[in-house]
Amino acid sequence: MPAGSAGAAVEGMRALGIDGLNVTMPHKADVAAAVDRLSPVAERLGAVNTVVRRGGVLVGESTDGAGFVDALRSDEGFEPAGKRCLVIGAGGAARAVVLALADAGAAEVVVAGRTPERVAACAELGGRVGAVEDAADMDLVVNATPVGMGDDTDLPLDPSLLGAGQVVADLVYHPLTTPLLTEARARGAVAVNGLGMLIHQAAHAFRLWTGEEPPLGVMSAAALRALTH
Ligand code: NAP
Repeated sequence: MPAGSAGAAVEGMRALGIDGLNVTMPHKADVAAAVDRLSPVAERLGAVNTVVRRGGVLVGESTDGAGFVDALRSDEGFEPAGKRCLVIGAGGAARAVVLALADAGAAEVVVAGRTPERVAACAELGGRVGAVEDAADMDLVVNATPVGMGDDTDLPLDPSLLGAGQVVADLVYHPLTTPLLTEARARGAVAVNGLGMLIHQAAHAFRLWTGEEPPLGVMSAAALRALTH
């Protein structure tokens, strides 16, 4: 779907009586403007990744941040409450993660990135502006940039800042093992790829659409098959 046509797509959803849909970049802000109502999280983010029909009303939700925190908790046994967290990047995914970590009770959420205005706006969601060098003091380090995606061999920070006792999460899921995760693991950190977030944000959407518990095992297996073939 070309950028700018999200409003027409939402009207199409209305006309066709479709009960739910998922939205990805670059349409998340446009869809937030096109739905009838926003959830509190979608409103704070100004972005929607899930649309749900509630009676005749289209509600925009954002499940990325909750999916990220769920993945940390259920797949890694990592509880963000009371933890020091660094988020690298200030785009849509970073914003969702910063808000979710702050709402989960993180002791602090530090945001580092290359465009100061975007970093400041992201930090306003519940963190403070910092730098990638803060990584050494953190319990959780999150790469919310596309650095390391595909064939990119770059790293979002100097890996000597990482070590044992830390969890390093990369939101990138293609490839499943990014250069950052390889470096983090080599230094004794727990390395977490973006697959868990992908599954758990979809699980939230499934619950919103159906009211039922999603088949997480089936979803993970399907996603793994798609990403490894
Ligand atoms: P986005 O809105 O385009 O934001 C990307 C952010 O990364 C921006 O802050 C950008 O900086 C920064 N950035 C881009 N290239 C960079 C570089 N070479 N060095 C330093 N910073 C760089 O993208 P997004 O939607 O937030 O997605 C970010 C990543 O998360 C993508 O890899 C995406 O696939 C992944 N993601 C994963 C999931 C999941 O379920 N696992 C969900 C959503 C997104 P500027 O602010 O200067 O532009």
